[in-house]
Amino acid sequence: MQESEVRNTKPFPLDGVGVGLGALANRLPKGVVRRRPCCPVNSADAPPLQPLPHRGGEACRRLRQVAFGLAFALAPAAAQAHPGHGAFDLAHGLAHPFSGADHMLAMLSVGLWAALRGGKARFAWPAAFVTAMVAGFALGRFQPIAWPVEPPILASVIVLGALTAAQARLPLAVGVTLIGAFGVAHGYAHGIEAPGSGLGFPLGFVLSTAALHAIGLGAGALLQRFGRPELVRLLGAGAAAGGLILAVA
Ligand SMILES: [Zn+2]
Repeated sequence: MQESEVRNTKPFPLDGVGVGLGALANRLPKGVVRRRPCCPVNSADAPPLQPLPHRGGEACRRLRQVAFGLAFALAPAAAQAHPGHGAFDLAHGLAHPFSGADHMLAMLSVGLWAALRGGKARFAWPAAFVTAMVAGFALGRFQPIAWPVEPPILASVIVLGALTAAQARLPLAVGVTLIGAFGVAHGYAHGIEAPGSGLGFPLGFVLSTAALHAIGLGAGALLQRFGRPELVRLLGAGAAAGGLILAVA
């Protein structure tokens, strides 16, 4: 076992969820689900992170404050679920993912979870979301089906936040499938919401979505670099809590 893995196994309130998911994965036939990597040979796809030596002190305290602040800021932000649309041009497309807590929390979580997972997931999972979102947009825009729009989106916030909080190390393809399905849901909502839109609106929300993924990835990578993956998990827990608030609000 890598030294970094030993250092990163601090107890966390949601550890039980991660253990449960791991146990579930281990019950499946070998080859269907890759077990948690136990040696560098198995984890060629996800090279272990080498966090900087933990120096503690002021920088760490500030990091923790920022993470806590973000986690608590995310939940009330959820109160404004999903704003309407004034127009369907590039500017509104750019603004939309940032203005609705449901989109924002899910998209940030994709980045955070991908950062925790590491390896190819850091590119493949956000790319899967964006690609599937474009397909979902086309479906909603040109071939709407009788499908509830908001429940799958709220489910995406809760599930992606919880998987981040649990630091669930799902296989790359399982993550791509799950994240892709959620991406379709978000894109479908945009397609339904944006009748008669040109290319500006979809281009705008694609760019903003990629930016939110990048913010999540960057924050996740930075916190791990400081040897504080539990703060990434805390942000995921905040997103999941925000999703739950949205669901019952
Ligand atoms: Zn929307």
